[in-house]
Amino acid sequence: MKITKVETFVLSNKLKENFFFSQWAYSERRICIVKITTDEGICGWGEGYGPADVIKSGINLVKPILIGENPLENETLWFKMYRKTLDFARRGVLVAAISAVDVALWDLKGKILKQPVSVLMGGQHRKRVVPYATGLYFSDGDNLVSKLVAEAKTYVEQGFKAIKMKVGLSISKDIILVKSVREAIGNDVNLMIDANHAYSLREATKLSRALEPFNIDWFEEPVSPEFYKHYKELRSKTTIPIAGGECEYLRYGFQTLLENNSVDILQVDICGAGGLSEAKRISTLANTKGVEIIPHVWGTGIAFHAALHFIANLEPIPGRLYAPEMYIEYDRTENDIRETLTAPSIKMKNGYIDIPQLPGLGIEVDEKVIRQFSTEILI
Ligand SMILES: [Mg+2]
Repeated sequence: MKITKVETFVLSNKLKENFFFSQWAYSERRICIVKITTDEGICGWGEGYGPADVIKSGINLVKPILIGENPLENETLWFKMYRKTLDFARRGVLVAAISAVDVALWDLKGKILKQPVSVLMGGQHRKRVVPYATGLYFSDGDNLVSKLVAEAKTYVEQGFKAIKMKVGLSISKDIILVKSVREAIGNDVNLMIDANHAYSLREATKLSRALEPFNIDWFEEPVSPEFYKHYKELRSKTTIPIAGGECEYLRYGFQTLLENNSVDILQVDICGAGGLSEAKRISTLANTKGVEIIPHVWGTGIAFHAALHFIANLEPIPGRLYAPEMYIEYDRTENDIRETLTAPSIKMKNGYIDIPQLPGLGIEVDEKVIRQFSTEILI
């Protein structure tokens, strides 16, 4: 069996309502997905996390490595793609391009061997995971507190057991927002905060200490991802667990994060950091330090399902008779592409999402939806 086609699609959708976080505003969703097809007509789908048009170029760069090769040899192909690109980009969007291809190859492998990806990765340590709602972004207007409170209550009504909100406007505004959301959702729902590296160590320390009374499960990306030692120092100054890693790439980047004892929770993005193959290696590294992994998840059902399989395969840290439940990040902000591209749709039942048991990632991609959102005219 041989790979005969590697196709990339950039999908774009203008948002009805802009939203923003500490770094920039979103006015559209723009996502690069890849389809890899064999001479027997079987195909696998992948997705890259990051600037879609650059990822598309990156996939086109590595495409000649893939054509004519055996799709079951996905790790060999991963290595060839990595060696081909490392002189120019040992981190960043070229790694995201490799990630997209890697996820597609795992999907393809599962479909060829008629097994779920998580089983092929070694097995499922769990059959279901707990989604946490990612939302509560900032928007313009003077009623931000009431908008966020209403949104948070919606997540509670939908059955979410945990919610993550944005911070990073300013210390004083963040305190008001977090206090309001905590009061609105009560103490039975877990609450996490994410600054997207808006703060200096001094500011992050001040904010963490002020937010300690509100029972925060983790403070995500408090400071800039370059400052590994600032993460470590912050951990010693607050009781709130510190999370990070969504801007990190490959085992080498994560090793730096781990060697510096920077985080309590490591947030690898499978579609950015090197795909499922590399995420599994990163999980082994994290395991040697006893550090928990809760992946960063963004994008379509392809990225979400890749994360479901990865989490299913993660060894519990620590192991015990009644293993702790695992989270999956579930973005709830506006995204028509995410809602329509893949089937079956993502369903939460009693606060859980089941690990897919179908071959590959366990999804079908609707090519009508690709034509609808594609930035190019497709026949
Ligand atoms: Mg984040």
